[in-house]
Amino acid sequence: MKPTTQQSLITELQSFGVRLADPGAGAPSRRGGAGPSDHKAMTIEGRTVMVPVHTAGAFASPYVASVPDAAGVSTIRRDGTVVGEVSFPLQPRFYAMQTLDGVPYSQIATLHGRDVLATTILQTCIRYQSRTKTCRFCAIGQSLAAGRTIAHKTPEQLAEVARAAVLLDGVKHMVMTTGTPNVTDRGAAVLCDSAFAVKAAVDLPIQGQCEPPDDDQWFHRMKAAGIDALGMHLEVVTPDLRRAIMPGKASVPVSRYLDAFSAAVPVFGRGQVSTYILAGLGDTREAILSICETLIGLGVYPFVVPFVPISGTPLEDHPTPSPAFMRELLGPLGAMLKAGGLRSADIKAGCGKCGACSALSAFEAPAESEN
Ligand code: SF4
Repeated sequence: MKPTTQQSLITELQSFGVRLADPGAGAPSRRGGAGPSDHKAMTIEGRTVMVPVHTAGAFASPYVASVPDAAGVSTIRRDGTVVGEVSFPLQPRFYAMQTLDGVPYSQIATLHGRDVLATTILQTCIRYQSRTKTCRFCAIGQSLAAGRTIAHKTPEQLAEVARAAVLLDGVKHMVMTTGTPNVTDRGAAVLCDSAFAVKAAVDLPIQGQCEPPDDDQWFHRMKAAGIDALGMHLEVVTPDLRRAIMPGKASVPVSRYLDAFSAAVPVFGRGQVSTYILAGLGDTREAILSICETLIGLGVYPFVVPFVPISGTPLEDHPTPSPAFMRELLGPLGAMLKAGGLRSADIKAGCGKCGACSALSAFEAPAESEN
């Protein structure tokens, strides 16, 4: 099987990044913050993906996006040859609003992909306070230091912004992540308070993301509070590599994640629990596919994304994985998901459903046959 044009273009752009002839095109790009950053949302053949535009690699990318035309369509060229078209989701209307106490809504939650409202409830993390513990890819403190967000989004603020984002911009689901506040509930309690307030204000499917809490009862509490889907993110899967790249977070071993997944799936449902795996940090293709097979067997959706370095982090010069590595990973993974009956489209909320940080959902569809 050879990849489709869409699969190829997405993996190429996510690996190399894109140089923008008009940096102001579309919605403002994300810089700093938790998880993937320094990207811009682009829609390619109906699929919205996040493409690096502010990384060192993107500045040297062979791909250039032209200034969008009157219809908002931009041509992608490689070495002068047209290879595809993209369009840019527009700036959401809720970004123009602010709370009564003067906090811009965009500092409370942002638009991800095309229709996802995303927030980092606690912009601080016990893992981020010391160089010896911090995850080496993470920039959770950068947007806070730059004044682009606030340290703790209250349940009331989140409810207000979620309601506006649904009414004004038609967002379809919400991602709530958080820095880890302690080594007990590990963020589950603040997710419960926040989800409860949002659900009281607006009918919006919510994914909560946290480390595995110390007590599995939290899964029932999160579900009861209105969290529809849960993400517990391994990031890296090989134990030695976990300790090297995220020394603090690796204190929760892979075995605890697997136990937590086994306890969470019966609460949230098969396919409604997911994990996030960053390909390109040293895990082999075999290691990633092996744990994905275990995860799919448990009913967990493994959302595998290409690592993209964020400026200002210890891994800012670490290369992105090649498009070929991603295709060799996502092709078999797409087939494993299909065989396991897990589909991104069936997830109620969250990163797996959004899919913008990876080409994975494009690989769930059948690839083109060899001619
Ligand atoms: S996949 Fe997750 S982190 Fe990436 S854009 Fe979508 S919601 Fe945001």
